[in-house]
Amino acid sequence: MIDKLCIVGVGLIGGSLARALRAAGAVCDIVGHGRNAAHLQRARDLGVIDRAETRIADAVRGADMVVLAVPVGAMSRLLKEIAPQLAPQAVITDVGSVKGAVITAARAALGGRFPSFVPGHPIAGTERSGVEASFAELYKHQRVVLTPEADTDPDAVRRVTELWRAAGAETLIMSAEHHDEVLAATSHLPHMLAFTLMDALLKLDDRETHFALAASSFRDVTRVAASDPEMWHDICLSNRTALVKALTHYRLQLDGLLAALERGDGDYLRALFTRAKQQRDAFPVQDKGRSVD
Ligand code: NAP
Repeated sequence: MIDKLCIVGVGLIGGSLARALRAAGAVCDIVGHGRNAAHLQRARDLGVIDRAETRIADAVRGADMVVLAVPVGAMSRLLKEIAPQLAPQAVITDVGSVKGAVITAARAALGGRFPSFVPGHPIAGTERSGVEASFAELYKHQRVVLTPEADTDPDAVRRVTELWRAAGAETLIMSAEHHDEVLAATSHLPHMLAFTLMDALLKLDDRETHFALAASSFRDVTRVAASDPEMWHDICLSNRTALVKALTHYRLQLDGLLAALERGDGDYLRALFTRAKQQRDAFPVQDKGRSVD
């Protein structure tokens, strides 16, 4: 049971966590912080948070769990602001989609309190943003990656594990470097493909006809191009080394496909499509067509 939970950034991810913990009866008091008083008021009206604070110092005071659920680029400044206000028993965690950059920022900002920081990333989400898009079931049966460092307090890891378990998720532990490399390929790369595919059609002379005839395959593949540009700006820049590697690998696959098409190599195409279909068909049913980022 968490006495006072502070959610910094009550949007899709932070709002959904607050809703899930409240539904599970795992928290007494939820305080929300954000830049925009109207957004926070909406979160109160929806019953997602109990109290709203636009001053971060007031939001974290006395909290025993602080969850940072803001875009990755905003973490460093907020961590510096919360550091002097943290209660002795406070555990701090985050939900950022990139872990290496957030850990570097947390180490610099939190100093001696760094062991109380447990880096995390729920592998669940949608292309929508804001508290209105949040829902209590988002994390049910989903996974949350925790990337503790060698000096992270094991008791803090235990408390964050319990938090996610109460929200319906299962946690797994891996290194931040491994996480960032894997997520570059499985989440960040597909978002880049969706954004670029949408942009490629936009640049065609006859784009009106193209968009008019774009049907379900185009809609499925570009769904995540509706994601928040600011959030993806931050993710790309924070994980650019791994993302460049993933994009380069993908470009090689595209080069292979292009060459096969140019030479009319049906065997190449059939083998590629068969491998891909077999792997896609083997995906767990619950993941099909669902955003898991
Ligand atoms: P979101 O719906 O836009 O929510 C972000 C929240 O942060 C908003 O409530 C916003 O409120 C607040 N915020 C934004 N910039 C801020 C700043 N500079 N200072 C203080 N508050 C700020 O975004 P989200 O999808 O929940 O994403 C939040 C985090 O979760 C990101 O780090 C993202 O990488 C990670 N994540 C996202 C997904 C996904 O599928 N969306 C999945 C896993 C992890 P105000 O505008 O009122 O300040």
